[in-house]
Amino acid sequence: MSLNNSGQKRILITGAAGFLGSHLSDRFIKEGYHVIGMDNLITGSISNIEHLFPLKEFEFYFHDVTKFVHVPGKLDYILHFASPASPIDYLKIPIQTLKVGSLGTHNLLGLAKEKKARFLIASTSEIYGDPQVHPQNEEYWGNVNPIGPRGVYDEAKRFQEAITMAYHTYHGLETRIVRIFNTYGPRMRLNDGRALPAFFGQAIRGEDITVFGDGSQTRSFCFVDDLVEGIYRLLLSDYAFPVNIGNPDEITIKEFAEEIIKLTGTDQKIIYTPLPKDDPKQRQPDITKAKEILGWEPKIGRSEGLKITYEYFKNILEKSKLSV
Ligand code: UDP
Repeated sequence: MSLNNSGQKRILITGAAGFLGSHLSDRFIKEGYHVIGMDNLITGSISNIEHLFPLKEFEFYFHDVTKFVHVPGKLDYILHFASPASPIDYLKIPIQTLKVGSLGTHNLLGLAKEKKARFLIASTSEIYGDPQVHPQNEEYWGNVNPIGPRGVYDEAKRFQEAITMAYHTYHGLETRIVRIFNTYGPRMRLNDGRALPAFFGQAIRGEDITVFGDGSQTRSFCFVDDLVEGIYRLLLSDYAFPVNIGNPDEITIKEFAEEIIKLTGTDQKIIYTPLPKDDPKQRQPDITKAKEILGWEPKIGRSEGLKITYEYFKNILEKSKLSV
């Protein structure tokens, strides 16, 4: 364990065993940081970070951030990425979802203040709700149903932004807010209920593809490496207001399902099932700010990103067959 040694930067990443947290842990280790990963493994998985355990630049705390958070030694940065993040997860564990965004964020802001660390939170396009402005820019306040099924996630994330800005203005804490749009790539959970892993899982297993509603709702999917680059740049920038990070290449969910059927070379049928309540009808990030402030834009198109992700899911399913 290195507590204060040399000039090496120390960063705490909550949700480190999750999809995004694990990719961020990889990136900061590659950049020469000492990474302290924290996770309670409710939705995260040790398999996402087990390759980091032998490294002296990495340590792991099994901890629930809604309880008081203690980390010995100096901390330069805190990234708060712990949260259930798929509609199925936050329907299953709504109270934990609210607590990690509210109590968890408060604890981590307290830690950041104590350590004089720069604090970055993972906010989300969900704070725009079912948007009436398209594409969504950071000035749009959103259209969220607080008491609907998505309310526990959306309002936790809105509260998270509010308390982060309050620590910035009241305590002068250095803070960053990234609004993350739909992101995909290796280490997504096959069974997290999201469209992309659901479609890949169904195609590979030879099942019908379940499109919710008539499939005319849109999303814009960003490959995880692009997202990580945007977050890295935002953390090191001096911009305290929210920044959208996502890929503006918008597609209907029906077309998306067709792309996955084509890529997997399977001959699956699409079946249409009811649209979940409050499912946003359209979503596309306006990334003007990210371009101007961070010099960032996505580099990896869907066809390339989906191929990489398909290979990952095929391997995972092969391994799971072998271990049965
Ligand atoms: N979706 C779908 N079939 C599935 C899972 C999701 O048609 O098996 C739809 C879902 O209703 C939504 C879109 O795909 O309109 C993206 O859903 P996801 O859960 O991936 O993300 P989010 O709704 O949070 O953007």
